Amino acid sequence: MWRGWWQITAAGMPAVPVIAARGARAGPTLVVTGGVHGDEYEGPAAVHGLFARLDPARLRGRVLGAPVANMAAWQARARVTPTDRVNLNRVFPGDRGMEGPTRALAEAVFEGLVRPADALVDLHSGGVALVHLPLIGWYAGDDGRAERLARTFGPALHPWLIPDERGVLSYEAQRSGKVALGAEWHGGARLDAAGAAAYTAGLRSVLRGLGMIDGEASEVQHLDGRQPIAGDYQETPVGGLFVPAVVLGARVAAGQALGTLYDEVGVVVAEVLSAREGIVAGLPHLALLRAGDRVAYVG
Ligand SMILES: [Zn+2]
Repeated sequence: MWRGWWQITAAGMPAVPVIAARGARAGPTLVVTGGVHGDEYEGPAAVHGLFARLDPARLRGRVLGAPVANMAAWQARARVTPTDRVNLNRVFPGDRGMEGPTRALAEAVFEGLVRPADALVDLHSGGVALVHLPLIGWYAGDDGRAERLARTFGPALHPWLIPDERGVLSYEAQRSGKVALGAEWHGGARLDAAGAAAYTAGLRSVLRGLGMIDGEASEVQHLDGRQPIAGDYQETPVGGLFVPAVVLGARVAAGQALGTLYDEVGVVVAEVLSAREGIVAGLPHLALLRAGDRVAYVG
C-alpha cells in the first residue's frame, strides 16, 4: 500500500493525493476518483474507507485512488478551480489546444491514472449547490459491463443512465474503452456518513465484480432491476428564491410544476415546469438561484 503526493506539472496546481494498492496476484487495474469537484465529501471518505479495508495479499490487480482529484478546488471548498474558474469535470481528457492549470490537471489525471486503468469509478455528490437522489450510473455506449457493476453497487443507489457529455471524466473514460461508472449522493456540502458507507460497500462490490477480491458471505450481490433514471439537468433562465413543489424521488409528468421562483417582494418570477416525464433526481440546496443555475434533474 502506497500513500503519497503526486506532483504534477500544472502551473500553480498543488500535488494530487494518491493511494495505491498492488495485489499479490495479477488482475485488472481499477481507479477510483473523488473530489473532482472540491465541495463534495462522500467520495473522498469512501476512497479512504475502501483502502482501509483492502488487503493487498488478497487482491488481484491494482487499485489506484485519487480521493481529491482537484486539490486547489478542495482547499477553496469550491466546485471549480479558484484560479481559472474552470470546472475540472468538463475538460477531460485535457486535450492540447486548451489552456490553463485545470486543463493541465485534467491531462495529468487522465493520462497518469485513467489511461493505464481498465475501469474507473468517479464519485460525486451535489456539492454546495445541489442535493441528489443517490445514483450509480453508466453510459449508453457501455457494452454491458459497467451496467452490471452499477446494478450490483448497492440498493441505496438508483440505477442511472448518465447523459453523454464531452469533458466529463467518466464519459471520456468510457469513450477511451474503460469500464466507467459515475455516482451521486445527496449534497449540500455535508458529509453523509451513510453515503460514504454505501459508496465504500459499492466499491467493494465493483472489486468483486471485476474478480479482484473474493466476496465475504455477508456481501451478497443483488442485481438491481429498476429502470434507470435518464434525462438531464434543467437550468433556470431567471434567478429568484426557489420554493420546490416536489421532493427528491417524486415521479412527475412533463410540464408538471417543480417549484416557484419569487423575487424579494414576493412577486412570482417564474413557475419552473418539468421538461420531461420522470423521477426528480436532483434539486437545489442553495435556494437562491441565479439565471443559468441548475434547478432540477429529472429523468
Ligand atoms: Zn461533482
